[in-house]
Amino acid sequence: MNLTKYLETEGKQETVHISYGGEQILHGGHSYALAEPFSMDLKVDHDEKGTCFISGEGGMELHAECDRCLDPVEIRVPVRIGERFTQEEITEGDPDGGHYYLDGYELDTDLLIEDAVRVEFPVKILCKEDCRGICMICGHNLNESDCGCDRYVPDPRMAAIGDMFAAAKSK
Ligand SMILES: [Zn+2]
Ligand SMILES: [Zn+2]
Repeated sequence: MNLTKYLETEGKQETVHISYGGEQILHGGHSYALAEPFSMDLKVDHDEKGTCFISGEGGMELHAECDRCLDPVEIRVPVRIGERFTQEEITEGDPDGGHYYLDGYELDTDLLIEDAVRVEFPVKILCKEDCRGICMICGHNLNESDCGCDRYVPDPRMAAIGDMFAAAKSK
């Protein structure tokens, strides 16, 4: 998306429908495939001279897996965009290096969307709130049935290790 007219034209305001060009989101060393193509409306406003503001909201559907039992789940991650761009950033370069999705006046909306998704990415993904996870001993999915292993652990901190076990097994 070229930002030139939005930066320069007084009162310029448009809604632009954009589609995400990628097929997956990389996050935390994992890649999550899109469950369906993602597109959203972006509102582009000329602000004061030489600046524009881009905003919009959507939700991206991704294939993921439960952190505890590793069953496939679909998650919907909010995509919230609210970003100001200035002429100075573009001509002089952003001193903070924040707007790396700008190449001259050309805005890479894929990168903008990816950043927004990562910000909202859920810390924990569960197939259901009370997922019982997998057996730490035999690896059986305990939502299906009990495997009969003796999993008694006197220390409740061991429950967290169960989650780590699941995470390691998924790699
Ligand atoms: Zn689960
Ligand atoms: Zn077991």
